[in-house]
Amino acid sequence: MEKDIDINKVVRQHLEMEQFFAGFTVKGEDKAPKPRQQMAPPDVTMSAEELEKLADEVRQCRKCDLGSLRTNAVPGEGSPNARIMFVGEAPGADEDAQGRPFVGRAGQLLNRIITACGLKRSDVFIGNILKCRPPENRDPRPDEMISCLPYLQRQIEAINPEIIVALGAHAAKMLLNSTKPIGQLRGQFHEYYAGIGRPPTKLMATFHPAYLLRNYSDENRRYVWEDMKKVLAELNLPLPPQNRN
Ligand code: URA
Repeated sequence: MEKDIDINKVVRQHLEMEQFFAGFTVKGEDKAPKPRQQMAPPDVTMSAEELEKLADEVRQCRKCDLGSLRTNAVPGEGSPNARIMFVGEAPGADEDAQGRPFVGRAGQLLNRIITACGLKRSDVFIGNILKCRPPENRDPRPDEMISCLPYLQRQIEAINPEIIVALGAHAAKMLLNSTKPIGQLRGQFHEYYAGIGRPPTKLMATFHPAYLLRNYSDENRRYVWEDMKKVLAELNLPLPPQNRN
């Protein structure tokens, strides 16, 4: 617990400091992007190009030790104009082998959740806090998160999703700068702040599919489903008829 608190604090302090200097503008000059409603429709071609450029950078990244330990980097994949962006913790062995996010057992469960929502994997974007697998699937370290988070931040900026779904404690705590347990964060909308002057993005935290696999119960499954139903309602997306109960 104590370790979690330190990790979050170190990472956030570093990122806040960077954002403060990057976001500093001359008083009177309003360079802030307009809120979503007033923005021009997203340029999908530009988002796709930016995501591809980012993916190339990730594949060449050696900013932390994980870069030399990986088989493949896992930049993330999905629609450049996704309305929902899922964010997990870090690639596991299957993801490292294939260079794609959520392709192992947890990924199969995530696929089932996406299908139950009446969506396809290609409708959403799936990424992670870390783009490379930590050895033995250990928890991400602060220096690794500090090095890697800017990639995710740029992905969020390029895609500009309406809702981020943070899968599990690491993603939720990191993106929300919170030390609360996932059991307290899940089930309600929070706001993710991309930086000074940028409108916040709604964020729903829920249990990680791997946690659900390890702790499978009707109750935990229902929690995740309740969280996803809130996401669909917020986006005015209909529930598939077979799941409307
Ligand atoms: N778990 C994650 O958090 N991310 C993946 O890509 C796979 C498993």
